Amino acid sequence: MSLSRKISTLFIVLLSFLLIVIIYSIYKLRLIENEMNEVAYIDIPLNQIMSEVEMIQLERHILFEQFKLKEKLPEEKKTPHQEFIYQKQQLKLLLDKAVNVIAENLVNHKIRFELQEHRQLLKVIEGYHSQSDAFEKKLAGALSHESIPDEERFQLEKEATDLESSVNTILQRLDEMTFEAGRYAEKHEQEFMFVNTALGVGALLLGLFLTIYTIHIFRRRINKIQDGIQNMDFSIEQGYQALGEDVFRADGPNDELSELEQELIFLMQRLTKEINNREQVEKQLLQMVTQDKLTGAYNRHKWDEQVLQYLDLARRGSAFSLILLDIDFFKHINDEHGHQIGDQVLQNLVHRLSSGLRKTDMLFRLGGEEFAVLLPVQDASSACLLAERLRESVSQDSEEGLPSYTVSIGVTSYQESDTEESIFQRADKALYQAKSSGRNQICLM
Ligand code: GH3
Ligand code: MG
Ligand code: MG
Repeated sequence: MSLSRKISTLFIVLLSFLLIVIIYSIYKLRLIENEMNEVAYIDIPLNQIMSEVEMIQLERHILFEQFKLKEKLPEEKKTPHQEFIYQKQQLKLLLDKAVNVIAENLVNHKIRFELQEHRQLLKVIEGYHSQSDAFEKKLAGALSHESIPDEERFQLEKEATDLESSVNTILQRLDEMTFEAGRYAEKHEQEFMFVNTALGVGALLLGLFLTIYTIHIFRRRINKIQDGIQNMDFSIEQGYQALGEDVFRADGPNDELSELEQELIFLMQRLTKEINNREQVEKQLLQMVTQDKLTGAYNRHKWDEQVLQYLDLARRGSAFSLILLDIDFFKHINDEHGHQIGDQVLQNLVHRLSSGLRKTDMLFRLGGEEFAVLLPVQDASSACLLAERLRESVSQDSEEGLPSYTVSIGVTSYQESDTEESIFQRADKALYQAKSSGRNQICLM
């Protein structure tokens, strides 16, 4: 999956979460608005009615007290019965109002909770009205007599108290309902605040997580590429061998960064091949320039370069010795056995000489069957010892299919103010001396 796709997926998740938060908020706000409306449409009018009913209750209470003492009433006042009927009508009007408010809102579906309680309350109010009507009739009957018997008066008083407690029950029920509605609205409001805060914090954490995750992905992939580049740097320093597929390991997801990795791998593999090829060619060129093709010994070109270096070192204190070596009667070998065998003798000689030399000694073919050895040793006696060993090994060992042969050797050591020519001439002179003294021997000069 591409990086932009990955990141956009993450942000779609975040946006969906935020959308859910917004939808939830709208839903909850509507719910709360409805509850507030309910309070406004039902609870406020009911509360007003309740306080008015309470007032009438109070007045009626006073009336009953007056009723008990009816003989002391002033003349101009209404009779207690008239007053009761008046208050009963007032109360009926108020309760009817309450009934209307509840019934209307029930019909309009504005009451959303405790429907059952509202309906029951309507029944209780209805019951109260018939109770009140019955009481009024009894009261009218009692008051039509001249005097009320004690028993009847007690009964009337008891019924008046019942009537009062019925109104109180209605008031209490109304009170409970309006209180419950307020409590509900408040509860939902708190719930809304809590859930919205939690969702908000959740969205923030999710956003934070997505940001950190995105940064983390980028960092990890870029670190991997940097590691790969460092490995390549190291490999190049170490001589190119380690460059290969394991420089980068493209095991990650298939995005732009891993494509970049792959391209770098491809590029580096090509570069490695190029570098290796070039190394090979350079090595071959160097061999061609410095080695003798037939024998593998260093050639004349290398000799010219090397002898100057040795002289330079010798002038700074590291003196050296030179052995000059020539096959005896090589012309005869060629003549008797053919040029090809002559070539094999040359190869055989280099093989024998090499096995007698140390790694620091350098063997050169100066031309034809003439060879030189540069030895990083100062004293002539050690050089002579080595020359004698070489001469002996050549003259004693014989190779199957090859004629036996000998070598003459001239030895010399570096002397102060020596030049390339002077030291070579001295060695050549020594070689000539060995030849003229009968060959197969060494001569020091
Ligand atoms: P001396 O003991 O005096 O050194 O006698 P010599 O015969 O070895 O010396 P001379 O210089 O007369 O002969 C050298 C011969 O080496 C002549 C030449 O044909 C032969 N020669 C030179 N280079 C090569 C080569 O690469 N291969 C072969 N097979 N022969 C070579
Ligand atoms: Mg010779
Ligand atoms: Mg010669």
